[in-house]
Amino acid sequence: MESAGLSSVGATMPFDDVIGQARAVGFLQRALTTERVAHAYLFTGPAGVGKRVAALAFAQALNCEVRQRSGDSRRLTAAADGCGECRACRNIANGQHPDVQMIEPDGTTVKIEQIRTLEADAALVPYEGLWKVFILDKAERMMEPAANALLKTLEEPAKDTVFVLLTSAVAALLPTIVSRCQVVTFSPLPHGQIEALLRAQGMEAAQARLIASLSRGSIERALSPEVASLPAMRDLLLEGLRQGFQDGPAALIELAEKLAKDRETLQQQLELLSAWFRDLMVAKASGRREWLVNDDRGDAVARQADGLPMDAILDGLHMVHAAMDNMTRNANPRLVMEDLLLRLRDKLSFDLLPVSA
Ligand SMILES: [Zn+2]
Repeated sequence: MESAGLSSVGATMPFDDVIGQARAVGFLQRALTTERVAHAYLFTGPAGVGKRVAALAFAQALNCEVRQRSGDSRRLTAAADGCGECRACRNIANGQHPDVQMIEPDGTTVKIEQIRTLEADAALVPYEGLWKVFILDKAERMMEPAANALLKTLEEPAKDTVFVLLTSAVAALLPTIVSRCQVVTFSPLPHGQIEALLRAQGMEAAQARLIASLSRGSIERALSPEVASLPAMRDLLLEGLRQGFQDGPAALIELAEKLAKDRETLQQQLELLSAWFRDLMVAKASGRREWLVNDDRGDAVARQADGLPMDAILDGLHMVHAAMDNMTRNANPRLVMEDLLLRLRDKLSFDLLPVSA
């Protein structure tokens, strides 16, 4: 009943878990159905857009027992996806298949010993599957000796072996390695797609829109607990600003110091502020509430936009963007924030930023 099995599990097949990457998935599925599987692939694209999920789905399709039975020995044209349910598919998903290995940096770098182990393993025939699949995550973290060792392996590929290198920083890889691989590009997802996904998971519309717009096109990021806490963080930030504008420079300097403590949250705070000013601009220019990112705070946005001239809004937006730029150039976070908050206070009057009614 293999064919019945293949069609009935359609909704849960492994490649279905790769969201919004139709081009990349189509490319891999064509390799499967035409039996032109390359020895090495390089999946490039930002973090959290599905490269790892796609690599595992590819490994599942290559070794799926249902696919193997459905074709003549190796003519696996019946489906371009694993079933997700056979022993091989489940073991691969759980990281327990002897022929599918995920290699990650040991500490901050991929060490040459890791590549040597992989090299020795790649020389052996598959243990129980059809293909040995080596997935090398964060491939850009290979130091040169490790990269050169891998290059040698890629130049003399063992039969039935597939390497899948994953990277969000393709420029950091040796060009000789890139040229040995079929490059498969993964894109940041459009915000609308992430919003729809969050809505499908039961998230409330306004929250889904805000989180999608702060996701940087990454589903992983959109679903992370830290991003779920962003609306609350935004309200706290705006309330802190309002209070600081009211209490004067000393209070703002104190707030700047508090915000600057953690670089990662600081970037989020700046993104929240940028989205807020962007909304003020949209509200001022169009009055269209349905275009707001901070839809859940639409009344506050409208009220503030009413009270501010467009010039001040644009200046504010530029200041926030300049601060973000300075942060990427490794400027001192405390000084950047002090400067930003004091200058915002000069531009906007304190009573114009109350968030909750
Ligand atoms: Zn399977």
